[in-house]
Amino acid sequence: MRILVLEDEARLSRSLQTGLEEEGYRVDVAHDGVEGEALARSGVYDALIVDWRLPLREGPEVIARLRADGFATPVLMLTARVGVEDRVAGLDAGADDYLGKPFAFDEMLARLRALLRRAAPRSLRLHLTPGNLVLDEAQHLATLAAEPLGLRPKEFALLVLLARHPGQIVRRERMVDLVWGDTLVSPNTLEVTVSGVRSRLLNAARAQRIDAPEIETVRGVGYRLHATPA
Ligand code: CA
Repeated sequence: MRILVLEDEARLSRSLQTGLEEEGYRVDVAHDGVEGEALARSGVYDALIVDWRLPLREGPEVIARLRADGFATPVLMLTARVGVEDRVAGLDAGADDYLGKPFAFDEMLARLRALLRRAAPRSLRLHLTPGNLVLDEAQHLATLAAEPLGLRPKEFALLVLLARHPGQIVRRERMVDLVWGDTLVSPNTLEVTVSGVRSRLLNAARAQRIDAPEIETVRGVGYRLHATPA
């Protein structure tokens, strides 16, 4: 489980990070609302912990902007404000739960667990052109023009990651981080996996006599999937 913490108070963000990591979560911290919103938009987080008062963009505005764009990630809001009106405003902005500061770490954990339980399992069904590439996360199934690609698990995870950002460069470090996590991988594992995905896409495309979405190598930076949402 991967959690994003938006908290500008250094001591609190450090202790949240340490405490959550001890519980086995992977944690990223953003110290202002703009950075936090940008990170949240990557779509890789299972939950967000968001302070109300943040530099550059306040917590409720961050949440409202994400919700307006369809982000369903569960949000636990933290705040020193404890009035009923503030609670209502926080929940109206799209927070799923609300915790007043100061709070007991154990209560925060319990609320986070409850949010994660309630959240729908992340099952994404992506449709991309050309070739009608369909990635069904719930079924772990990838097809091109209805032809199954037969991807290995890491190949599937890698293609899903690229497909979540069609037309954009995804950086190498980020790909290694998100696909392999803390597992040590040899330097060329990423290249080998990408070329595996490429050849499976090409084989399926040839079989169907269509164009395959292309995975471009952006040398020294990362990879980009040339496809658009269908
Ligand atoms: Ca704050």
